[in-house]
Amino acid sequence: MTIETASHKETSFSQENEAKNLHDDVWRGLDPDEFTALRALGHRMLDDMFDRLETVRERKVWQPMPPAARAEFQSPPPRAGIGAEAAYAAFQATVLPYELGNTNPRFMGWVHGGGTAPGMLAELLAGALSNNLGGRDHAAVELERQVIRWSAAMLGLPPQSGGGLVTGTSLANLIAVLTARTHRLGAEVRQRGICGARLTAYTSTATHSCVPRAFDMAGFGWDSLRLIPVDADHRMDLTALSAAIAADRAAGCTPFLVVGTAGTVDTGAIDKLPELAALCAAESLWFHIDAAFGALLALSPTRATRLAGIEHADSVAFDFHKWAQVPYDAGCILVRDQARLIAAFAQNAAYLRREARGLAGGAPWLCDLGPDLSRGFRALKVWMTLVSHGTDALGQIVDHACEVATHLATRIAAEPRLELLAPVSLNIVCFRYVPDHKIPQAKLDRLNADIVADVQEAGLAAPSTTMIGGNLAIRCALFNHRTRAADADALVDAVLHAARVRENV
Ligand SMILES: *Cc1c(COP(=O)(O)O)cnc(C)c1O
Repeated sequence: MTIETASHKETSFSQENEAKNLHDDVWRGLDPDEFTALRALGHRMLDDMFDRLETVRERKVWQPMPPAARAEFQSPPPRAGIGAEAAYAAFQATVLPYELGNTNPRFMGWVHGGGTAPGMLAELLAGALSNNLGGRDHAAVELERQVIRWSAAMLGLPPQSGGGLVTGTSLANLIAVLTARTHRLGAEVRQRGICGARLTAYTSTATHSCVPRAFDMAGFGWDSLRLIPVDADHRMDLTALSAAIAADRAAGCTPFLVVGTAGTVDTGAIDKLPELAALCAAESLWFHIDAAFGALLALSPTRATRLAGIEHADSVAFDFHKWAQVPYDAGCILVRDQARLIAAFAQNAAYLRREARGLAGGAPWLCDLGPDLSRGFRALKVWMTLVSHGTDALGQIVDHACEVATHLATRIAAEPRLELLAPVSLNIVCFRYVPDHKIPQAKLDRLNADIVADVQEAGLAAPSTTMIGGNLAIRCALFNHRTRAADADALVDAVLHAARVRENV
């Protein structure tokens, strides 16, 4: 008997012993002995969800959750599981009736996509694999890289662009700010911090609230972000921008970044991107564009030219979960030179060693391009939506939404008691109800806020509100691919009805 055999025997003997102590022969993990019941439950869930999609127009958009239903969420997790069947029953009782409602075509509040059936199925497939796309060499990572290449090409960014899918534009904007910071201050900033560097950045007053928050989170504080006034079309005033940059330079600050917006959240305005790009080039500033929903204009058969200039951006943030209809959440950061992202985020850790071959190959990993190490298979629902429907269909959704918005604006203009509060440049319509008698501003704002809540609580439609020029506006953002002109008419009817009811009490 050779020594090798002896040690082999010893090992297998101790493993056998351990197995006995572990009762390994009966251990099942979390999977059932056989899948018949679970399979049937899964099929039923699928049928239920397709039924739900088929009848989405017939249901209320939303209904408030009664306290008893809300109280269900207070219970602790069970020590002994109730089984997937009972868990699904609980979901049906407590979640389904009171969900957000953004798959419904009369959901017009905020900026929400309506979801897609292929996207829904992709969530199931991605869940089945439970892959981590932070790194390593596997197909899901290649698929995400393909989605990023498609996205860059869609916006006219060069092939050496890089990026990744993230939760949303909020995180994508933060990634852009950090990348621009490291680009300006050099890699040492990652070790030493900004050390009192007086970096300043510029965006318009119509910017989304997540942009100042990115400056807060990045450690600059939001005072370092100068809010430049907008013109009558809600676009950044370029003369004021130049003046602000010059004033900051004169005061010893270091301007480093301009954040343009392609599709402002209030009115859908698009900054003058070619002029901003030229200004950034002349001033040696990083040009980032928040195109959260506007990026999808690139696929529109008639409105793609509105995005002209976006191809000059150093980075672009946008969402697939808005106009592209991909189920939440799916945001995207693109940087025109992937090396800049790597410079800003890649690290070396012994337990994350990259190899030339094997599962640890495939560098750079996606975790080198952003703050997340563990990353889910978000890319699959984006890919499934894009591939199943094609980019033409998404472009037509963009155009259709803009046409419905024009229809809505025309209808509002024809109603004597309704007043349009902002020009309709894309798919966002802001208006208000004005009574036939004079009432104070505060009361008028309150009346319109109440009308919106009435319409939401009746389940008839779901507009939201915003402030336009100091006035509370009823805001309809038409992003759901199921929304038709008849839904816009239903919204106007619901608003007028709610107003009449309020005026009579
Ligand atoms: C929605 C939106 C954001 C924020 O994006 P999230 O995906 O919600 O993080 C930022 N900017 C604009 C213009 C938006 O419309």
